[in-house]
Amino acid sequence: MDFETKVIHGGIQTDASTGAIVPAIYQTATYQQQKLGGTPTYEYTRGENPTRFAVESVMATLENGQHGFAFSSGMAAIHAVMTGILQAGDHLVLGHDVYGGTFRLVTQILTQLDIQYTAVNTADATALAAAITPATKLIFLETPSNPLLHITDIRQVVALGHAVNVLVVVDNTFASPYNQTPLDLGADIVVASGTKYIGGHSDVLSGFVVTNDAALATQIKMIQMSVGAVLSPQESFLVQRSLKTLALRVERHNANAQALAEYLQAHPKVARVYYPGLPGTPAHTLAKQQMRGFGGMISIELMPGLDVKQFVENLAIFMLAESLGGVESLIEVPAQMTHASIPRAVRLENGITDELVRISVGIEHLADLKADLAQGLAALS
Ligand code: PLP
Repeated sequence: MDFETKVIHGGIQTDASTGAIVPAIYQTATYQQQKLGGTPTYEYTRGENPTRFAVESVMATLENGQHGFAFSSGMAAIHAVMTGILQAGDHLVLGHDVYGGTFRLVTQILTQLDIQYTAVNTADATALAAAITPATKLIFLETPSNPLLHITDIRQVVALGHAVNVLVVVDNTFASPYNQTPLDLGADIVVASGTKYIGGHSDVLSGFVVTNDAALATQIKMIQMSVGAVLSPQESFLVQRSLKTLALRVERHNANAQALAEYLQAHPKVARVYYPGLPGTPAHTLAKQQMRGFGGMISIELMPGLDVKQFVENLAIFMLAESLGGVESLIEVPAQMTHASIPRAVRLENGITDELVRISVGIEHLADLKADLAQGLAALS
């Protein structure tokens, strides 16, 4: 099945007990047991829920994996992966421009558990190889990364990691499985914030983990069950409903973003555009090899001296807000918003300037989006 068919017919998409063509919302915390001491399939919703199982199975199918797990947020999913794999004394290598919340989890929570880390540019194979120590258990990376849209060669990282028994985890939030399937490129685990393209409507928090490795799946399931940050039945239903239009939505995100990136690149008030769909860079060549589309995220730097605050506050369609991947276009300043939890010196070292603006391009009409950016830029002096 192709992706466009899998979003509608892949995994569990119907309700076997009634024939309903949509999985039911099993709004229950527990299940009646037929006898004492049996081993019922459904015992308690933290462990088992048919609505959650349905969305988990579709997500696994879309990521070309065997085992899928749904969490109450992307951070809960990432936490499950980290704590499912790492123990005291272990070390991980972290992409240097990952989402600020992931950085906070590693630097402020995992370090308290005596788990050490090294942050590197995972797109730089030499730096990555140098960061691996005998204690390293996993490499965690984002590609495209947040917010600089760096592209990391997943196959290359997998070859490097697997040669020394290190697992590779890819945060696929920015790409979505429509644009990229890291398991096909050899990654051991794929994680995603379902709050973004997967949910797609900025109304549900969710997170997903998918793997083909049965042993890793058992560890993730154990954390999911023990910590309990599961996706609720209602929200599982909403995410599954949204997944049906994932292909359609992401196609439009990709097309709008490509056109706006080209427009911004030619604009005299824009100093720099970060978008993997722009030709002429090694990132583009690599992105073409491992991605089906280049995604809906663009980052830009305005010409020096132009007022970033005035620009983001004066747009009419692009709303000033954190998050991304929804049908509506959003704009934000990472240094003050999504990446504020990263110390300024570290941010600057990694190329996240105070003036960097991140744009999540929605699925509105391209002409309206272009006109809004044009008037916002025209007003700057
Ligand atoms: N990963 C990436 C790349 C993100 O951008 C985010 C949130 O913005 C997360 C993970 C965390 O997801 P959530 O907000 O659903 O916890």
